[in-house]
Amino acid sequence: MADKINVAGVTVDTRHWIGGRRVASVGTFTDSSPIDGQPIGEIARGGPAEAEAAVAAARDAFPAWAATPRTERARILHAVADGVEKRIEELAIVETTDNGALLRSHRRGVMPRVAHNFRFFADWLLELGHEDFETRGHRNHVSWDPAGPCVLITPWNAPLMLATWKVAPALAAGNTVVLKPAEWSPLTASLLADIAAEAGLPAGVLNVVQGYGAEIGDALTSHPDVRRISFTGSVPTARRIAASAAVNLTPLSLELGGKSPLLVFADADLDLAVDLAVEQYDNAGQVCLAGTRLLVEEPVAEEFTRRFVAKATALRQGDPRDEATDIGPTIHLRQLEKIDGFVQRAIDAGARAVIGGRRGDGQFYAPTLLTDVAQDSEVVQEEVFGPVLTLQTFADEEEAVRLANGTRFGLAATLATGDLERAERVAARLVAGTVWVNCFFVRDLQAPFGGSRLSGVGREGGTWSFDFYCDLKNTVTAPKGFKDHG
Ligand code: NAD
Repeated sequence: MADKINVAGVTVDTRHWIGGRRVASVGTFTDSSPIDGQPIGEIARGGPAEAEAAVAAARDAFPAWAATPRTERARILHAVADGVEKRIEELAIVETTDNGALLRSHRRGVMPRVAHNFRFFADWLLELGHEDFETRGHRNHVSWDPAGPCVLITPWNAPLMLATWKVAPALAAGNTVVLKPAEWSPLTASLLADIAAEAGLPAGVLNVVQGYGAEIGDALTSHPDVRRISFTGSVPTARRIAASAAVNLTPLSLELGGKSPLLVFADADLDLAVDLAVEQYDNAGQVCLAGTRLLVEEPVAEEFTRRFVAKATALRQGDPRDEATDIGPTIHLRQLEKIDGFVQRAIDAGARAVIGGRRGDGQFYAPTLLTDVAQDSEVVQEEVFGPVLTLQTFADEEEAVRLANGTRFGLAATLATGDLERAERVAARLVAGTVWVNCFFVRDLQAPFGGSRLSGVGREGGTWSFDFYCDLKNTVTAPKGFKDHG
């Protein structure tokens, strides 16, 4: 296996990064590009031995990093952000080659956001505090202590963005990290290791292990030295991780799938509603937050559909490196087959494909809108994770809320309405971690983020991230000369 590969002109090390050194494995797995299905390179295939080595490195590096003053930790995290900013072009092209999402959005949105993840949590850490308070003259002092080594496991749909949204607060809090990126898009995590080392992050503070979740996952998540596990991915994997973490009762943060509704009321600005709906095809629909269930009030359903179809059929599907492309390929042939399975079963069950409903060339799936779908049908209840939307209609607010809340998920919801009182009323009744009113995907890092029901456990973001990544401690000090122990 070559230790380094050339990905669109960028050198990427294919080995693990453990204790400040590159480490190879005996085995490898093949990483392919969704753009043409061709292999990009052979990547180190870690197992229990690499998991053990990475956790040991994180454990050994922990005391010194935890004792590093907050201001110094923050300085290094800002240096990591500088490094990301310097390499935005390289990160963007490597990510696009690896996961097929649009180059222009990686360049202009995603990679700057990766840098922001580090800056934001570095700064938030410095602001983090808690007023001391008194109990019968005793001083209560609450401190945010680093918890220890953290295992962070991430998916392929927004690899570096989702990884750094965990890595940054975990490191800022004074923890050390073992990051396990997804096997379908492992490359930018390796570049992050290079950037962090150049920024002066001490050896062992950030470790990156590559491999299949089924082979390396359990050794990471059941390890007794691991103090936190943060996972973003699917519900079935979350169940396995929760079972594995149960051995040590390791605290878990789980950011999982969704089947989010997008509600369009008759009083909405219909063009805005259509724009919001078409936006759900972004990243070929491989977005956990996507509002894939369009719920439209009956009087405007026909007009909404007409405008939606006009706009959606004008989207350009193609090479994600091309500036003019709106929708790229799906991540993997297996994902494509999964998507098509959902659609064909829905059609067999009586759904109508207003647009799409079929595979395109290579790993492309045609943007699809299905109508005539029952609330209890598979395609309405299960996450497809592809460019597939369903459309149902509702008669009134009551029915809208019932349909919106009628799945096992609760990640997000989007409302299009011209009546802000209605928006407040409906938002209050929705089961969702985030509700957007007349907008979508506006995400401030200080807001709590996560899902209800099967969409997740816990919240991260701003202070909530530090709630999770820290051990909160209250120290109660008696006043001088105090004798009463009662
Ligand atoms: P996945 O669950 O298949 O894999 C996610 C990660 O878990 C990968 O790194 C994988 O290697 C690892 N893994 C697999 N088995 C493991 C095991 N037994 N132990 C430990 N780790 C293991 O998910 P995916 O297909 O990569 O991602 C898509 C899913 O992620 C969708 O359901 C999507 O909704 C969800 N997602 C959620 C959010 C959110 O913030 N809520 C964001 C993005 C994606």
